[in-house]
Amino acid sequence: MKIKVLGSAAGGGFPQWNCGCANCDRARRGLSGFRPRTQAQAAVSPSPGSWILLNASPDLRQQLLSDPEFAPAANTRATPVSTVVLTSADVDSVMGLLHLREFQPLRVFATPSVLAILAEDNSLFRCLERSEPPVSWEPLPLDAVVPIGGLSGLTCKAVPLGGEYPDYASVDVRANLASQEAVIGLEFVQHRKRFFFAPSISGQTDSWKHPAEHADVALLDGTFWSDRELIEVRGGGKTAREIGHIPLCGPGGMLEQLPRAGKGRRVLIHLNNTNPALDETSGANRAVRDAGLEVAYDGMEFEI
Ligand SMILES: [Zn+2]
Repeated sequence: MKIKVLGSAAGGGFPQWNCGCANCDRARRGLSGFRPRTQAQAAVSPSPGSWILLNASPDLRQQLLSDPEFAPAANTRATPVSTVVLTSADVDSVMGLLHLREFQPLRVFATPSVLAILAEDNSLFRCLERSEPPVSWEPLPLDAVVPIGGLSGLTCKAVPLGGEYPDYASVDVRANLASQEAVIGLEFVQHRKRFFFAPSISGQTDSWKHPAEHADVALLDGTFWSDRELIEVRGGGKTAREIGHIPLCGPGGMLEQLPRAGKGRRVLIHLNNTNPALDETSGANRAVRDAGLEVAYDGMEFEI
């Protein structure tokens, strides 16, 4: 299978339009070692000419336009994009669905609870149902191997990762949803090759560790370097763990928890603009690399 990173930053991108932190300032000025990044988006291809989008970022339109592999065949509307798989109902994971509303039949997989938020609680997403046939909302049950790539043999398993439902979902709806279905990782398998996609790991459970350790490629939550990162930059706010992201450094952080040995590539995605690992000359970036991890960038590709 082929994997592409179309966007590697957390919500807001890098630089973020309303942020003047040291990182954003340097990225805005084009300094070397501060590569700009669009908002996190990945895609997996189980066979030539067929792509499955992993989440739908707010930058999705530009991300698809900038890569000729996603172009429709000449004089047709035969897009190679047939399917979207969502890991949560977060705005940054679903906003790009609205970029796919041009009367395009699609399959959209998510947990039953995330589907309830999108298809029942938010009338805006009904614009996707105007296509003929309309978008097909398909439930992805937890911990079940689901064939997702047609004849290619690609399967997908939803791994519950803890985390919360987004604030925009109404309180009544949230109260009736299964908490385990809020945020998932996606474990793809094809021809015994494994790809794990987990851009949001709360750290409330260890369920992410086994698939991360055994994947040939794992795209993992690299949102925050330290637990108090946002508080230190903004002078207040929540810790990384309170927002639902395990930090990279510190006690119980990802670098401490991931064993260094392993055959696969482990790559951090969804980096917040405040993360010092975005500075390629920083000690944080060095520590990430010393731990055997890589930092994703827009346009990164893998074939396994
Ligand atoms: Zn910033």
